[in-house]
Amino acid sequence: MKLDALTLFASMFINLTLIVGALLLGVGWKARTGMRLWNVALVLQAVAWACLVAAYRGWPRELATLGSAALVAGFSFVYLAAKNYLRQPASMPWVVGVPVVTAVLHWLLFYNFMARILVVNAAIGLQMLWLSWLLLRPGSEGSWRWRWLAGLALVATGALVACRAVLVVVAPESYPRFESPHWVNIVGLIVSNASVMAGTLAFLLAHRDEAEQELKRLATTDGLTGVLNRRHWMERALTHFNLARRHGRGLVVLMLDIDFFKRINDSRGHQAGDRALTLFADALQLVVRQPDLVGRYGGEEFCVLLPMSDVAAAQAVDQRLRAAIVRDVNPKLGFELTFSAGVAELKDDATTLDEVIARADQALYAAKQAGRNRLVVA
Ligand code: GH3
Ligand code: MG
Ligand code: MG
Repeated sequence: MKLDALTLFASMFINLTLIVGALLLGVGWKARTGMRLWNVALVLQAVAWACLVAAYRGWPRELATLGSAALVAGFSFVYLAAKNYLRQPASMPWVVGVPVVTAVLHWLLFYNFMARILVVNAAIGLQMLWLSWLLLRPGSEGSWRWRWLAGLALVATGALVACRAVLVVVAPESYPRFESPHWVNIVGLIVSNASVMAGTLAFLLAHRDEAEQELKRLATTDGLTGVLNRRHWMERALTHFNLARRHGRGLVVLMLDIDFFKRINDSRGHQAGDRALTLFADALQLVVRQPDLVGRYGGEEFCVLLPMSDVAAAQAVDQRLRAAIVRDVNPKLGFELTFSAGVAELKDDATTLDEVIARADQALYAAKQAGRNRLVVA
């Protein structure tokens, strides 16, 4: 089988254009930032290859510099897309600096073939190596599937780029010219083609992971306050409850209800009511400890499950919350917010979670009856 470099270039260009079109149709432009950045990276690569082939065919040298800059800029966008899915901040000097420096050096060194090729290949090699390290290093956020797929594609392409950089220095006479059928060229083009596919698949996986996480978040948390929704709180609370019962550990449920909340809505509007709920939930989440579960039980009623804890722990949470509301919430709201609370603990192993919640709810009702703005222990 004979593979012709120019055919491979053409297929690379066609592949890139088709993938960009397919992604725009299938995923859409507005879908996700990471996907958008990957799309830009592909467009820049397609532009780069078109410019480089055109320049090689005798078109003005500006195209060669433009093509090289677009190629390097394309990898800056791959870096941006990866950083987006890794949820890490991107370094802008790196994103802008590498393509600009490459373009300037390429232009200045144009008549020194070896230096020019070295600059472009070193820039791309450096970008690929750095990016593959960011993707493959253990402990990075995101599933290993897409990180490894993208990282290994980068390592494979990067190795070939490094090969070219070394070859142009140690054996410039055998350095494969753009369209020559040299094996480094042919293998490089095949790997590049495959890497574009692998990269697209990797970013589609990252995109799917992100969408899945988002759906999970939407399904388990309350849209207004960000705490667990009632259904998910009950699910997780039941796990804690069963564990506590089996191992004879303590467990308490704290129910909280904002006082005269209807009045806030009626006199200040629903937006003020929503803001009060959000600030209340934020304060609550800050005063509980790591394993404690905070949920929105109903409209302005919240529930906290404290695993391996006793009534004293719930009383401490109640005290900290009251202090936090006076200190942080009330000044932001511009009016005074108070709440009533009821706490109940898991007594003997015959009770169900619903019973504990019901007892906490009765205690809360008693707190309301006793004049509000207080905690009652069941
Ligand atoms: P109490 O001190 O006895 O608890 O009185 P209350 O006014 O707080 O209690 P009530 O149950 O009478 O009123 C709760 C109000 O909460 C009624 C409902 O319209 C409002 N509410 C429920 N969910 C939301 C919400 O998401 N946003 C806003 N702004 N109001 C809500
Ligand atoms: Mg209320
Ligand atoms: Mg209520």
